[in-house]
Amino acid sequence: MKIQFKCFPGGRRKAVTFSFDDGREQDRRLVETFNRYALKGTFHLNAGMLGKAGYIAPEEAAELYAGHEISAHSVNHPFLGLSPTDQLAGEIWEDRKALERLAGYPVRGMSYPFGSYDDRVVAALPAFGIEYARTAAGDGGFELPADFLRWRPTCHHKEMAERTRALLEHRDRFGRMALLYIWGHSYEFDDDDNWSLIDTVGDLLEGRDDVWRATSADIVAYMQALDRLRFAADGGIVHNPSALEVWIEADGQAVAVGPGEAKRL
Ligand SMILES: [Zn+2]
Repeated sequence: MKIQFKCFPGGRRKAVTFSFDDGREQDRRLVETFNRYALKGTFHLNAGMLGKAGYIAPEEAAELYAGHEISAHSVNHPFLGLSPTDQLAGEIWEDRKALERLAGYPVRGMSYPFGSYDDRVVAALPAFGIEYARTAAGDGGFELPADFLRWRPTCHHKEMAERTRALLEHRDRFGRMALLYIWGHSYEFDDDDNWSLIDTVGDLLEGRDDVWRATSADIVAYMQALDRLRFAADGGIVHNPSALEVWIEADGQAVAVGPGEAKRL
């Protein structure tokens, strides 16, 4: 029995996710465009900025971002890497609490304001219940992170069309999962007058059922479920103790393992 590959849902090897920061009013147009193309995004919000001029209002957040993910970005958008340790709890914990009241679900992810962090910040995050944190340093690659608290995106949204084309053509010679992780700010589409980039990407992904659309939290939950699979010593049985269906490849076949299922391979 040769069990070599992990897969995204449906046995897919590719996924795409969008991650946008700051909760500015241009998010309304961005979400509407995402919904038109059935794309999924994560929106990182600062509880201390919501309702101010140019930002979305707290009372519209739940409905606006329905079907997407609300995630943290600190209360006041400081450089966390330059902030006193004493300030970290307030910035992250209080952001979570305020956003969870709006969202109606646990908020366990964040992106670093200004992409700023250091080892001290990363070490503190688990105590604040944070499971993933996105940096702002894309390297163009499609690899899933070794450390979700230093999760590097693929690219800024300016490069989204070019990297989407690259993902669609991508063939990993080891069959590894490939994630296109695009980050940015919705107001930059106004500043740069390039909203058409999203239409280009939406059109490129149209009908591409081999690419999973997911939020950051969806991806983290799925990868955690994959990591929790238990295999028999001879590889002939797999047990999925999680509540999510997960997919693997065994002897060249994509196999679904249901929640709680023990399956012979
Ligand atoms: Zn920001």
